Amino acid sequence: MAGFTFLPMSHDHDHDNDLDPMAARVKALETILTEKGLIDPAAVDAIVETYEHKVGPRNGARVVAKAWSDAAYAEWLAKDATAAIASLGYSGRQGEHMQAVFNAPETHNLVVCTLCSCYPWSVLGLPPVWYKSPPYRSRAVIDPRGVLAEFGLELPLTTNIRVWDSTAELRYIVVPLRPQGTDGLGEDELAALVTRDSMIGAGHALAPGAAA
Ligand code: FE
Repeated sequence: MAGFTFLPMSHDHDHDNDLDPMAARVKALETILTEKGLIDPAAVDAIVETYEHKVGPRNGARVVAKAWSDAAYAEWLAKDATAAIASLGYSGRQGEHMQAVFNAPETHNLVVCTLCSCYPWSVLGLPPVWYKSPPYRSRAVIDPRGVLAEFGLELPLTTNIRVWDSTAELRYIVVPLRPQGTDGLGEDELAALVTRDSMIGAGHALAPGAAA
């Protein structure tokens, strides 16, 4: 991912400390909460482990592949994304109320959380660093076309861009356009074309043959 200018971090090399300021703050908070008996570090580790390694964008990719393959499912997803997604076994933490927004040739959808970093963990895993960065959060709203161009997504001027602001109550998944030349593909092969960024709106789904 190129293009975003992140706020400069201050590095204080007087301290013999590998943690960046945010990581240090998180560590300090965790220590205090553990000492007060409010959290169990093993439980925290288990949650992080789950979202880093077990839950990831492939859940969302299954949702998109099914929507591409099954018109009735796509209709359900459009009407009640929370239920349609839960039917595949993806629900819970940070994904309770979902809305699916469908890209079309004339409309492209982009998701942001201007306030903080609300993100549908249950279908996309942990948010990418850029999603949480102040430049993305402000510029996605002010200049979505420019932001998309920095992701390498040059959309025709005739394509409208809709920006969706996530909240703690409502999170979004973008259903990207189904790539051309995928008519004969099954859901597994289709899911392999669905990238994390395409489900945030920051990319297209991959062309067949481009999947890793
Ligand atoms: Fe947020």
